[in-house]
Order: sequence, then structure tokens, then C-alpha cells
Amino acid sequence: MATLLRQELGWYVLGLVIAIIVGLLAEQFLLIPLLFSIIYSLWMLVRMSAIVDWLEAGAVVKKAPPTLGLTDHIIGLTHREKKYSRKQKNRYRTALAQFNSLAAELPDATVLLDEYKQIRWSNNAARLLLNIHPERDRSQRIDNLIRDPEFQEFLALPEATEMELVSPAGRNVTLHLRKVPSGKGMTVLIATDITQRVKTREMRKAFVGDVSHELRTPLTVINGYLEILQGDNTLPEKTHDALKQVAEHSARMQHIVDHLLELSKLEGSHLNDHEGEPVKVANLINSLVSGLQNATGKDHRFELAIDDTLALLGSENEVVSACHNLITNAVNYTSAGTLIKVAWRKNSQGQPTLDVIDEGAGIEARHLPRLSERFYRVDTGRSRESGGTGLGLAIVKHATQRHGGELLIDSQPGKGSHFSIVFPATRAIDLSESTSN
Ligand code: ADP
Repeated sequence: MATLLRQELGWYVLGLVIAIIVGLLAEQFLLIPLLFSIIYSLWMLVRMSAIVDWLEAGAVVKKAPPTLGLTDHIIGLTHREKKYSRKQKNRYRTALAQFNSLAAELPDATVLLDEYKQIRWSNNAARLLLNIHPERDRSQRIDNLIRDPEFQEFLALPEATEMELVSPAGRNVTLHLRKVPSGKGMTVLIATDITQRVKTREMRKAFVGDVSHELRTPLTVINGYLEILQGDNTLPEKTHDALKQVAEHSARMQHIVDHLLELSKLEGSHLNDHEGEPVKVANLINSLVSGLQNATGKDHRFELAIDDTLALLGSENEVVSACHNLITNAVNYTSAGTLIKVAWRKNSQGQPTLDVIDEGAGIEARHLPRLSERFYRVDTGRSRESGGTGLGLAIVKHATQRHGGELLIDSQPGKGSHFSIVFPATRAIDLSESTSN
């Protein structure tokens, strides 16, 4: 730029020198250089205004005004910028076309919703899986097209992010829906076909259920004969010792089969928000604790903080099972004489919460995420010794999830463990209200 300016100035100075010489020769020393300067400035203005006109008319290269020097350079630069931005525009257009065709062909149904839940855009898979047509249904409210009440609730609740839905397009397809907020009130709804996964899950559940059921009958027969044999005093002592061991293993198997059956009933299903009976959890805990105090002989100290006006809307058997598993674990995995705290009350957010806190050896952090998996044990020997099946926490987790709750585990080696079940606030029943009425 500086060179151009110097060049432009050079031309002007040269012209001025010539004008001075001509002025001297013509004895018009001032007039001719002044005239030259005025004409040069006017010429400059004309060049500038031609460029402005050209720019205003769209800067078409072929229609660029004939010019030179600085103004010519401005035209050159504009031309280069235009070429660059045209290239960029083409690049963006190609990328957008590629993205559009990719999104249109995604195997997952994708629907873009605006703040009023109106469809802004949908892909081809949305037609197959959700029966939403990309053109026909644009600008329609999605809840007018998918009328499932659970879906409508899912759409309305900001905290709901995932759900399973039977495809409105029929064909016995199960979908997994995800809701992703995408700025300025927009939402992306993604639906994946999980029919195969659901079938496999159902098959596995049925298989485990069937096998456990099939094992139950022979086990009952074996246990019956074992009882008869154990009662036979004519048998030698060695045989009695062997029978005792067989009986212990058989009882363990019975326990595993019972737990597997219980788990297969709980898995993959959930109670509706208002489904269940009023469960008096306080009474359950009190009788569980006194039963354990009498049975284990380990002489644990229990500290109870129980709100007996708080009941839970849920399934009594499942709540009993969850409380039983957590409290027996606290007994089984701690030493005699240690303190076990059990609390049943609302937390600060009004959610009914069961806390079981022990002073046992605790669990290393690496085990915590896997603790509620089937057959996962930190200390297999101790688990077997205490009659554990490795299924207790899996049962607790599934029973909790069926109630819309969450199992939380916090533990520190050497300090003890804290297991909590947090139920949704909507499941709380205030018994003081019903007794005072
Ligand atoms: P189990 O029938 O073996 O007790 P669970 O599913 O109830 O199976 O528990 C899984 C494992 O978690 C147990 O084997 C044990 O190693 C560990 N665990 C459970 N509760 C406690 C606890 N309160 N303290 C220490 N470890 C525990």
C-alpha cells in the first residue's frame, strides 16, 4: 500500500514539476501548477466516484471502470475478495449439501423441533420410525402427530431426556428416544430402533426366569430328601457331615434361584408414577432390624432415625427386599459390635430416602460403579461365607429403578459405607395427614 501511495504521489509530483516548468516558460508560475493540482484532484474524485458506482452496482468484474494506480489496485483487491468469498460460499454450500444428505440418510430418526414443539426439519428415517413426513408434516406440532400420553409427558418435562416408545409407524418396532436441547429453545429428537435389543433383553429375561423355575422343582425334591436323610440317626457321623455340607450348598443354590427369579421379574419394567400401594417403610425397617438383632448373634449396635409418618407409594415386596438386602449387607460385611445407622426420612428436596451407613471395611472406589452388577463381589470368599449370592445389590438397584428412584453408594476403605435409596418426591405419602383427618 505504501508503495502504491508513493507511486501515486510520484505521479502527482512529476506532473507538478512539469506544470511549474511550463508555468515558468509561459510566465504563469502560479496559475498553471494550481490548475494542474485542481485538475489532478478532480480526476482523482472522478476515479473514486466511478469505483463507488461500480461497487454499488455489484462490483461485476467485467464492468470495472478503466483506471490506474491506487484506484486500479482497489478494483483488483475487490475482485480478489469476491473470488475468495465465492469460493468459500461454494465450499459451504457443498458442505451443507453433504451434511443434509448425510442427516437425511441417518439410520436414526432425527427431528428438529422449535420452542412450540413444531417440526422444523426431519429426515427419512423419521418417516419410517415415527411416521413423520419431511415435507407434509413440517410446521406441525409433534404432539399432534404422536399422541402417546407417555411421549407427551416426556416432551413436556424438561428433565426427561430418554424414553422407550412403541413406534407410531407400527410394525412392532420399539424405539429409544432421546431429547437434546439445541439452543434458542430448539430441541433435537433422536429415535433409535432398539427392537432387536429389546427382544434379546426379553429373551434373556425369559431364559433366566425359565431356568430358575426349572431348577426350583429338583431343588425342592433334593432338599426334601436331604431333610429325611439328616433326620436318620442310623447313618454314620461322616455321612451326616457330608449331608450337612450338601444341605448348605443346596440352600445356597435355592437362594440363588430365588434371587434370579426375583431379579428377572424386576428387570426392564417400571411402575407408573401413581402405581403402587402405601408401604409403611418405618414398620418394615423396625421389624427387619429387630429380626436381624435376634438372628445374627453378631451383636451390632443399630441407630435408627425413622420418620414413621412417612410412607411410600410402591410395591411392598420390592421395598422389603431392597431394605433387607442393604441392612443385611451392612451386618454381613462389618465386624460384630460396630454401629449401623439406618435412616428413613425426606431429604432436603422432599424425596423419601433410605440411608444405611456402616462402619465396616468400606469398598475401594474402583469397585463402586460395578457393585450393583449381577454376581459382582468385592470379596467373593466373604460373600459366600455370609450366604451372599452376589445378586442383592442388583435386586436393590432394579427395585429402586422400578419406582423411579436411584441407588447411591458412597464408601471409603477403612471408614465404612453409605448406601442410599432416593425415591421420587411424588411417591411420598404423609401418614400424619391421613390419621389427623
Ligand atoms: P452379596 O450377596 O454377595 O452380598 P450384593 O450384590 O448384595 O451381593 O453385594 C455385592 C458385593 O458388594 C458384596 O459381595 C460385597 O463384596 C460388597 N458389599 C455390599 N455391601 C457392602 C457393605 N455394606 N460393606 C462392604 N462391602 C459391601
